[in-house]
Amino acid sequence: MSGRERVHVGEAFDSNFVAPVGPQLNAFEEHVAEYLGQGLHCVGLSSGSAALHLALRIVGVGAGDEVWISSMTFAGGIFPVLYMGATPVFFDLDPTSWTVDAGLLREELAAAARAGRLPKAIVPTDLYGQSADLDPLEEICAEYGVKLVVDSAESLGGEYRAGRKCGSGGDAAILSFNGNKIITTSSGGMLVTRDAGVADQARFLSTQARDPAPHYEHSTFGYNYRLSNILAGIGIGQMSVLDDRVATRRAIFERYREALEPLGVAFMPEPAGYRSTRWLTAGLFPAAGEGADRETVREELARHEIESRPLWKPMHMQPLFAGTSYKGSGFDEHCFERGLCLPSGSDMSRDEQDEVIGRVAELLKRG
Ligand SMILES: *Cc1c(COP(=O)(O)O)cnc(C)c1O
Repeated sequence: MSGRERVHVGEAFDSNFVAPVGPQLNAFEEHVAEYLGQGLHCVGLSSGSAALHLALRIVGVGAGDEVWISSMTFAGGIFPVLYMGATPVFFDLDPTSWTVDAGLLREELAAAARAGRLPKAIVPTDLYGQSADLDPLEEICAEYGVKLVVDSAESLGGEYRAGRKCGSGGDAAILSFNGNKIITTSSGGMLVTRDAGVADQARFLSTQARDPAPHYEHSTFGYNYRLSNILAGIGIGQMSVLDDRVATRRAIFERYREALEPLGVAFMPEPAGYRSTRWLTAGLFPAAGEGADRETVREELARHEIESRPLWKPMHMQPLFAGTSYKGSGFDEHCFERGLCLPSGSDMSRDEQDEVIGRVAELLKRG
């Protein structure tokens, strides 16, 4: 917390809107819409997963449909596909960006179109603060009439080419304000879209699908997914420090990179024209037997009460998804095997950063 949140939470109490509706919720949505630019509509929701669930339902994903999705992601970015009874097909990363391989998607879409079996939607993940390659993704989705839902849960504050903000892509994009994200409302999410009709649908479905009538009337089922007005107050305060948080995370990343890249760590690349938030500093360590491998580093840090964690385990490697289709050559598997996320919190002191850097450097030098 920055200290500014209390004011807005206080205003929420003063307004007595202790509910998933109210002036702070409206203002928070407006702040995010203004930040993202381009006349986007924002709908505050209870989580990023809820936002993805609604987005999939609204773009028309149904039972038996295929959803093509990045394998390297967090469970909350996948499970909503299962809520809809749809079938995920997992895709590998592009080694030059560590986001979903748009060239591979293009080839597979062409083949699927020939076979008359197009997916209903594609869901790229903006990984660790970095945008997916939106230009070709938006182009191929338009070409084949496939919906594009961008999982920007990890990338708010980041930019794609020409300064386009992360969270502005596709038919809809989703954001998360969970406690571990770059800014937080403790728990919360948002659906972002250019299409006012999609935003209206999200408002309708997230408040129990109440048809206009003096009594409670329902022609379809909905969800209780709207964001609390109190939590939106936290969000207003957090938006005012978002750019500072991005600058801090990028500075932490740069310190790690300067010290550890010369010792053999391959950090997540940032393609020209992109601006990642570096939400988490992620890098690949030497193979076991060829130096200080990922597990050696992780265990040594843990011995000193420093938390680090392997990269997301690709979904096609999860027991839950045994036997599910996977397209790619296993670059994501390689990232999982070798990759570690180093401590990246915006509140890390310089001494804390130095300690982590020192301990990792020592291991790498020892080999
Ligand atoms: C955090 C996250 C989500 C889910 O957001 P919640 O607010 O935790 O439900 C979805 N996708 C990705 C990539 C995430 O990192």
